Parts: sequence; structure tokens; C-alpha cells
Amino acid sequence: QFADAVYEVWSLFDGRLGDPEGHFQRLERSLGELAIDMPMSRAALTLVLKEAVRRNRIRDGLVYLQVSRGVAPRDHAFPRPALPPSVVITVSRVDRAAAEARAARGVAVVTTPESRWGRCDIKTVGLLPNVLAKQKAREAGAAEAWYVDDLGLVTEGASSNAWIVDADGVLRTRDTNANILRGVTRLSLLDLARQAGHKVEERPFTPQEALAAREAFITGAGTLVLPVVSVDGKPVGEGKPGPVATTLRRLYIEHAKATSV
Ligand code: PLP
Repeated sequence: QFADAVYEVWSLFDGRLGDPEGHFQRLERSLGELAIDMPMSRAALTLVLKEAVRRNRIRDGLVYLQVSRGVAPRDHAFPRPALPPSVVITVSRVDRAAAEARAARGVAVVTTPESRWGRCDIKTVGLLPNVLAKQKAREAGAAEAWYVDDLGLVTEGASSNAWIVDADGVLRTRDTNANILRGVTRLSLLDLARQAGHKVEERPFTPQEALAAREAFITGAGTLVLPVVSVDGKPVGEGKPGPVATTLRRLYIEHAKATSV
């Protein structure tokens, strides 16, 4: 009730949590912002998540963790004394071959006006604007919706961060002073892209700049690095996945596997 809960999602490669550190850090931060206690230590939580993976017999997929304020009579203010937080974990399977085929085709995105609250840095389960945006995308045959703010700038996707490789070859994604979720995939990829010799800027772009860009892509634990080939029905670049996004996808997957626990 009240969406008084936060969540976190890890990619799962060969039964191990990918790129784990950033997700644990963000979980602790999201909980801290809402004054909800960590349900258990990070070490214990890792064991519980891995046990959920084992019991579900899933090797490749996603691990979803939700932590809510706890069970109490319905009241808007926090229950006092504080309750033990409630934990829900699910594990779902991803067909990696199908995911790679999708990445090779690329996906469409549509734009939609920004409609969310001012604390999108907290990964709360209050996702109604995201549900509506995603449904709008689906009805348009697109995989993702990009929110566009009052200044006409893309903030991020309904469940991913948004990137372009602009006409000068510079990788651009929105800065975290803006009202966006600080994607863990985004953060790792900023490093990986710089290490690979790319010029990277945390600088906003408009949908028009995305259409004039060489490439566009989205990042997230679910999508990893996924090329975007059209925005609002118009092609990005040559209308097919480009070399930068394709290479960064491979580098990110290698990174997620190498850091997995
Ligand atoms: N932005 C939003 C709104 C999201 O919901 C997500 C992931 O679910 C992301 C960005 C990507 O975050 P991450 O890379 O940590 O999965």
C-alpha cells in the first residue's frame, strides 16, 4: 500500500548476480532516503538472493528484490515503533539467444511528456507513470518510451537510461543533477566507454538530436545495452544498430560477468 517500498534488479549470468556492487549501493541509498532499514546485512542479503536463484533453477535472467516498510494497519505516516521491512524476491528467466537477436535488430522508442514525481533518483515501486508510458510504447509497436521534460530534453526511459552517439561521435547521456534514476548499467558503461577511448559527456539531448545522431541506445539491468533504431517512427542514423552500441553491449556483458558474485 502507498507504494511505500523500493526495489532493485540484478542481471543474472550463469547463476551469478551481474555488476552487483552498484545495485547494493543504490538499494542502501534508496532505503536510506525513505528511512527504511536494510532488511539484513549486505552479506546475508547476497546469500538469500543466491538461494532464491538456486531454488528457481535459473541460470540466466533477472533477480528482483522489493523491500517495503513492513506490515501494519493502513496509515500514511510511518508506523511507530518501526517495523521489520518486508522482503519479496523473484527470479525470472531470460532467453539470452533471443535477447542477442533482439539487440542485433534494435528497438523502437517513442517519446512522451515527463510525468513523474521529483525524486526519480529513488528506485521506488511507485511506477504508475512508467506503466502508462510503457503501454503507450507497446501500443505504438515500440520497446521503450523516452520521457521529455519541459525544456524539450530527454530525461530517460520508463525502465532504462537513454544515450546517443551524436553527430560528432560523442557519447551523451543525461547528467544525474536531472531527475533520473542513476542507472547502475549507465554508471559502469560511462567508465567502460571512456576506457575504450570514446569521448563521453553527461549532457542532455533532444529527440531531434537523437534523430540526427549516428546511434542511440538504452541501458539497464534488463536490457543491458540495447540499440535504438527509431524514435517516434523516424530512423536514427541508418536505422540499424551501429558499431558503438554493439561493441559497448559486448563490453558491458563481459564486465557484468567478470564482476559477478
Ligand atoms: N531508469 C529507470 C526509470 C529504470 O527503471 C531503470 C531500471 O529499471 C533504469 C533507468 C536503468 O537502471 P539500471 O541500469 O540500474 O538497471
